Amino acid sequence: MKTIYTFGNGQAEGRADMKDLLGGKGANLAEMNLIGVPVPPGFTITTEVCRLYNEKGREAVVALIKDDVMKSVAHIENLTGNKFNDPSNPQLVSVRSGAPVSMPGMMDTVLNLGINDAVAETMAQKSGNPRFAWDSYRRFVQMYGDVVLGMKPQNKNDIDPFEAIIEEMKEKKGVKLDTELDVDDLKELVVRFKAAVKENTGKDFPTDAYDQLWGAIYAVFDSWNNERAILYRRMNQIPEEYGTAVNVQAMVYGNMGNNSATGVCFSRDAGTGENLFNGEYLINAQGEDVVAGVRTPQQIMTVGSRRWAEMQGISEEERASKYPSLEESMPECAAELVKIQHNLEEHYHDMQDMEFTIQDGKLWLLQTRNGKRTGAAMVKIAMDLLREGAIDEKTVIKRMEPGKLDELLHPVFDKAAVKSAKVMAKGLPASPGAATGQIVFFADDAEEWASRKKKVIMVRIETSPEDLRGMSVAQGILTARGGMTSHAAVVARGMGKCCVSGAGTIKVDYKDRTVEMNGKTYNEGDWISINGSTGEVYDGAVATVDPDLGGDYAAVMALAEKYSKMDVYTNADSPRDALKARELGAHGIGLCRTEHMFFEGDRIKAMREMIIAPDEESRRVALNKLLPLQRGDFEGIFEAMDGYEVTIRLLDPPLHEFVPHQLETMRELAEETGRKLEEVKLICDGLEEFNPMLGHRGCRLGNTYPEITEMQARAIIEAALNVKAKGVDVHPKIMVPLIGVKPEIQMQADIINETAKKVFAERGETVAYKVGTMIEIPRAALVADQIAEVVDFFSFGTNDLTQMTFGYSRDDAGKFLSIYKELGILKEDPFQVLDQEGVGQLVEMATRKGRAANPDLNVGICGEHGGEPKSVKFCNKLNLDYVSCSPYRVPIARLAAAQAAVEAE
Ligand code: ADP
Ligand code: MG
Ligand code: MG
Repeated sequence: MKTIYTFGNGQAEGRADMKDLLGGKGANLAEMNLIGVPVPPGFTITTEVCRLYNEKGREAVVALIKDDVMKSVAHIENLTGNKFNDPSNPQLVSVRSGAPVSMPGMMDTVLNLGINDAVAETMAQKSGNPRFAWDSYRRFVQMYGDVVLGMKPQNKNDIDPFEAIIEEMKEKKGVKLDTELDVDDLKELVVRFKAAVKENTGKDFPTDAYDQLWGAIYAVFDSWNNERAILYRRMNQIPEEYGTAVNVQAMVYGNMGNNSATGVCFSRDAGTGENLFNGEYLINAQGEDVVAGVRTPQQIMTVGSRRWAEMQGISEEERASKYPSLEESMPECAAELVKIQHNLEEHYHDMQDMEFTIQDGKLWLLQTRNGKRTGAAMVKIAMDLLREGAIDEKTVIKRMEPGKLDELLHPVFDKAAVKSAKVMAKGLPASPGAATGQIVFFADDAEEWASRKKKVIMVRIETSPEDLRGMSVAQGILTARGGMTSHAAVVARGMGKCCVSGAGTIKVDYKDRTVEMNGKTYNEGDWISINGSTGEVYDGAVATVDPDLGGDYAAVMALAEKYSKMDVYTNADSPRDALKARELGAHGIGLCRTEHMFFEGDRIKAMREMIIAPDEESRRVALNKLLPLQRGDFEGIFEAMDGYEVTIRLLDPPLHEFVPHQLETMRELAEETGRKLEEVKLICDGLEEFNPMLGHRGCRLGNTYPEITEMQARAIIEAALNVKAKGVDVHPKIMVPLIGVKPEIQMQADIINETAKKVFAERGETVAYKVGTMIEIPRAALVADQIAEVVDFFSFGTNDLTQMTFGYSRDDAGKFLSIYKELGILKEDPFQVLDQEGVGQLVEMATRKGRAANPDLNVGICGEHGGEPKSVKFCNKLNLDYVSCSPYRVPIARLAAAQAAVEAE
């Protein structure tokens, strides 16, 4: 078994495509050597060794790799001409962890390993720069003490124990910057650091270079199983068995004086995607000083430097003298870096994020990887690379992270405005976007304020269906309770409305109409802003700008359409949503819920009248009032979806959701219908159920009150005929919810077909329509072959199907799902990501059985999963005809569908 791969001087045993074995960092260090980029020599201990370490323990692994480690250290020595663990001619190394996927929470890097008092003396003499030697030494003791010996702050509010000592020292000397400490100060720091380590950890600081090296190697392996790393892997579905590699690499020193530097850079702008090489550096510094913000870093390119200075309000003279670019301060190194970043990008065909160090005028690269980027940058960079001929269309599709498209679809905060905004609370980024408005606490207030053209943000402890209309007119929603699948979150995402949920630290007082955040009390009407992409809540109004959906975004979506096979529909209940979804690329409506239509204006009155009607006849009277209203709604939607299919679901929720819950409203209802209050109250209370989600709802309503289905079918068919007469190309699909046994759908289908026949006869005109069913009860999936004989289409209602297959109530599961995820009982929230193993099996089986019984059966899914990339790919694998999701998820689903098609090739 080969345990170690060496690299250096233009040669390497590894390659870029060996990330699984060498980790991302190690594989790219090898690759950079192979393509002629200057990289300090070193070696990579494989992830396989880490796995063995976890299985067999320390001793077994040391026995296995000891000789190889010695040989590989010699490899470094041969190339540098120095010696590790030799005070007369010392070689120092860095020890760096590196997993196959980038993983914060793993061990931090240790620099300058191999140093001790004698070595520091030699380094001081040889370099003629004692400051450099002792600066390196104190850095080493600090990093090794922290990372390997576990000298950490006791709790998160405490300052780092080493930093505390440095602060004390700086105060004593009356200086501000580390660089102002002199050699004697640094020497004293080393002594005090070591004493602190001994006192706090009880461990002596190791002086032997090999002891130091093994200690660091163990620490990297151990860090694979530290709490932070385990948690991160669970949250991000990174397999436990990956393991991390260990990179040991010859040090190059950016802290050798004013002809040395260290920095990070990007071949393109990771925020905007602009094709502009950019980055930051610090002279006479080491490692992560640039990121850590010890001093103000300087810009690499002069263009960037000038932009930076302008934003900081720094004059050109001051910039050029105090903060010159690398181009200005070290022109040769800068020119070489420009060439290298260009080569690296050309080699990897993607934007690179690089780390470099300049030692006494010589440039070294220490890392390169494909850079992380915003959604906007993702789109622009891919399209630019396509136009440059660096990648092809399919690669553009593969490069997209579908979920990130969301960022592009919502109004966004003005970048500069956010920087100066004051963060008052933080919750979950439940629905992306930016919203600014005045605080209201109640739905009716939201509506009232909105009607007066006010922008409001609804602040609630939590939301319920009664808040829907308030939410729909609000700019955004902020809740104190509830997770990513809470009512507020789901509804907001559906509406494409910004939402921050579960901001646990805010205190909402409905009675006083106040909310307390970060010690400040806000009243109704006060301005706040919420950031649905980060979960941040800001004080006051923060300026927003509209997103641009043309240009590169449109180009990427065109490619997605070109390559996807499965179609994408939308869930929309109103012409406005339907039009929005069309604009975003939807080719039909997969789910139009009719119940929302009953809440608007006076309609709820007719609905309530229908519900409390004592007999069929009076029920029909009330239904006749609803008929024209529904018909009008459907006409609007059909017109908006001219040319596309519209799937309308018949009434689904339990009737109890529609009746009044307060005595006062009950009294009104009694007066309006001319009935006794007690009578009305009895009926309303009588509708209450122990388990409404499993109660009298769905097709059970339509089968026990056939006149409801009759009315809805009539409204749909009449609307279709009306718009057809206007020249609209209409394709209605009538969908029956909550089927479990064949007679249920048979009975509903009969009512629909008879009603259609009647209407056609009345009008002397026909229109093609389809009848189908939701598959959302496990039993329906099991007997899908029987059901398919009756219907034209299936639509998997994966929300209910998940709920009933797991036996988790969607509205209550939040309490334990987060704990289940933490414990690793569930990898993902099944209400967010379709459970392919269980629920997916039902989907697969029902599709197969259904199509066997009815070869023309059209199959799709609606429900939250229809807009979730992994679930969309699963549907593509099952050859479903379409997925349907909320309007703002349409582009994401479209892209995921295209990816699935391209990946399947
Ligand atoms: P991370 O994974 O957190 O980026 P790295 O292993 O890349 O950690 O190292 C942290 C910092 O140390 C980086 O700035 C890197 O460039 C620097 N560094 C690592 N190895 C060396 C080395 N051999 N010589 C000089 N600097 C190094
Ligand atoms: Mg780091
Ligand atoms: Mg790094």
